Amino acid sequence: LVPRLRPFTSTIFADMTALAVRAGAVNLGQGFPDTDGPPAMLDAARKALFGGANQYPPGPGRPELRAAIAEHRTRYGLHHDPDGEILVTTGATEAIAASLLALTGPGDEVLVIEPYYDSYAASVALAGATRRVVPLVAGPGGRFALDVDALRAAVTPRTRAILVNSPHNPTGTVFTRDELAAIAEVCVRHDLVAITDEVYEHLVFDGEHVPLATLPGMAERTVSVSSAGKTFNCTGWKIGWVCARPELVAAVKAAKQFLTFVSGGPLQPAVAHALRHELEWVERLRTDLVAKRDRLAAGLADAGFEVRPSAGTYFVCADVRPLGFADAEELAWRLPELVGVAAVPVCVFTDHPDEWRHLLRFAFCKRDEVLDEAITRLRQLR
Ligand code: PMP
Ligand code: GLN
Repeated sequence: LVPRLRPFTSTIFADMTALAVRAGAVNLGQGFPDTDGPPAMLDAARKALFGGANQYPPGPGRPELRAAIAEHRTRYGLHHDPDGEILVTTGATEAIAASLLALTGPGDEVLVIEPYYDSYAASVALAGATRRVVPLVAGPGGRFALDVDALRAAVTPRTRAILVNSPHNPTGTVFTRDELAAIAEVCVRHDLVAITDEVYEHLVFDGEHVPLATLPGMAERTVSVSSAGKTFNCTGWKIGWVCARPELVAAVKAAKQFLTFVSGGPLQPAVAHALRHELEWVERLRTDLVAKRDRLAAGLADAGFEVRPSAGTYFVCADVRPLGFADAEELAWRLPELVGVAAVPVCVFTDHPDEWRHLLRFAFCKRDEVLDEAITRLRQLR
């Protein structure tokens, strides 16, 4: 294995899920729902599979999906030409990797907000670029907030791009307009490209999702990334997309076409259907997730954790120190055996593990009986 990939031989999600399965634990580690998406979307996939949509789709993605993505973006007041300003990818993961490969390279620095989704560090390394992290800090009410001064201080003459994930995994932070405005100001001043990860755009419980591309000066310098997995409970489908100005999309496509060429042919019409016709279903999902967040947060608090606020995503973070544990990473490895629950330590998503060692991330995108069972088991920690 080449040196630049040596830190990335395993993923915490695969490790914790394997441990949960071995221990028969309730898996609140890896974030995936345990119910299916809208039935008509599944039916559209079935029809496409049996209707002959099984060969390579067009390089940029099937036209009906690109049209549906463009239409969906108009909810934010953003207008994209489906021909040239939209690219369908193999999940947001490939969209982010292809964007970094296309737009950054050796000698370039990429700003990454810490804690960061695990693929960011690996994709920056694949591109041969260097990551520079900007840690989130405790804000009002324990919310994880952007440290604007730290962001400004992290820019160097080598900075080329910034990765912005909101709603934010693992913390559940939804960046405010002020935070986004500060990011935009830094991007414009230093001529940076922003790569946004908006996979939880519909899963906002408090506040609203504001795409960075809607801020002044940002439409022309933002590669906006999203995906169907979280919005329509189909994380295994891996249908994602990029929206950006034609020259940026062309660059990302240059990388994407030699990573996977094209993506998920028969699933694309189904996602097009979902984007056009299933947003009411998504609104019910969102409402359900608000209740699930509250259910798990209350259960964790009752079990003795100090729960941090989460305004979106699938996740809530909790401090393990009130229970007498000093090291949440060590606890995460023991928890499945100890009480039969799996969670993910937040410090693995950082370059400063000691500063994040007290936090566990729990996923609440599960049926209520699963959450209740996890809470009952976690109460044994008291
Ligand atoms: N970004 C974030 C913040 C995520 O939590 C995930 C996990 N689903 C992804 C990207 C990956 O998305 P996809 O499955 O569409 O590649
Ligand atoms: N995005 C999911 C999470 O954060 C997991 C994705 C994965 O397993 N790579 O839990």
